[in-house]
Amino acid sequence: MDIEEVYSQRDYIEHCKQVHRYSPAIAKILDLSEAYIPDIEKAYQEGRQDAVWCNAAGWQVPLIYSFGIIPVSYSEMGRLSDKEAMQIAEDYYQFPVETCSMVKCTVGQWHRRRHTSTIKRIIGNSSACEPYNLAWEIMKREGYDVYNNDVVYRGPAVAGKRLEELVGFFIEQIYDIAEWLTGSRQIDEDKLRVEIQRKNRLLRKLRTVLELRRQHPFYVRSLATILMLNIGLNNYFGKPAEYEAAIDLLIAELEQAPVSEADAKNVIPLVWAGGTGQEFGIYEAIDQAGGSLLGLRSVPFKLYREDIPPVEALARWVYDNAGAGAGVYARNVLEHEVNKLQARGIILYGYIGCSFASVDREMWRKYFHEKGIPSINLEGSFQTGAPSGQVLTRVKAFVEMLA
Ligand code: SF4
Repeated sequence: MDIEEVYSQRDYIEHCKQVHRYSPAIAKILDLSEAYIPDIEKAYQEGRQDAVWCNAAGWQVPLIYSFGIIPVSYSEMGRLSDKEAMQIAEDYYQFPVETCSMVKCTVGQWHRRRHTSTIKRIIGNSSACEPYNLAWEIMKREGYDVYNNDVVYRGPAVAGKRLEELVGFFIEQIYDIAEWLTGSRQIDEDKLRVEIQRKNRLLRKLRTVLELRRQHPFYVRSLATILMLNIGLNNYFGKPAEYEAAIDLLIAELEQAPVSEADAKNVIPLVWAGGTGQEFGIYEAIDQAGGSLLGLRSVPFKLYREDIPPVEALARWVYDNAGAGAGVYARNVLEHEVNKLQARGIILYGYIGCSFASVDREMWRKYFHEKGIPSINLEGSFQTGAPSGQVLTRVKAFVEMLA
């Protein structure tokens, strides 16, 4: 499929497969990404697998897998969505048009499923995002069973007794979720430990992939990079063993691939500071301009502690990580990545309507500008069709300027 024939996010994935036709590992990762939601929904409807909608990232994932339940990322359902789903949110639920398109697409998809035998439970996160808070409240009215946990943010100066109180509070939240999910506050620590070990093993393997990519900057192009790290590393696309096998295969492929001096000379190393955009065309624009996303802010580099009880390890990971709240943690990760990779620029990406992320991005832009590190601040919306428009022109111009 040529890029001109691309009209949807799914088309982009097909196009991406063709671009990577030399790599069975990347083909597998893209297949897993595409099949993530449909396969779980099918297994759920056939009674073969329990599952729950959630953000399917971070501490939730080892916990939910330890109960034998699959975490299903609702934002993935939204991302591989369409304009009609977004229209439902605007017309039927009266979401203001400027609301984050990710949320609107998710709402539209839940709406379409509401009278079917779909997965009916949703774990929210009441301190994550206002538009999603609204979505969860609405879905309660539509017959979904929604549970909202509270994650207290850790400010940059919080330590000592206050931090221990936060950890204790969050441990209780974890037991509350266990009770809601399974009917019991019992958590099988052995199973949770196995899941934490799996997560740590995969984090180490993905670090190896990132290291190898420095010698092979164009082997995994931008969209595949984002899907492999932002989605796959978080929740394994619902198939942990298959995801890990694909990563092992990718490591083997990268280790055997001949190193190209021309690639090393021509590459424009970039750091991606944002979630997974819905406008996949932006990744195409980066690729076409010779950029390579070698560092990502959202990749969780910190391992879970294995020297403490596993439930406590989940809680401490939250407060020790860049996702704990204050934008300064994430900024430190970005700076570390820029220095390590000798990146020439940072792409700051977020959605129109996301007030929370736009404040962070503006702070980072100012900070890096003062340090002489170029960045581009992009605000995207749901966009289907081949790469076009002002955002793509800006991306290309930015990357080419760094060349
Ligand atoms: S981009 Fe912002 S508003 Fe949209 S889902 Fe994410 S946090 Fe919420």
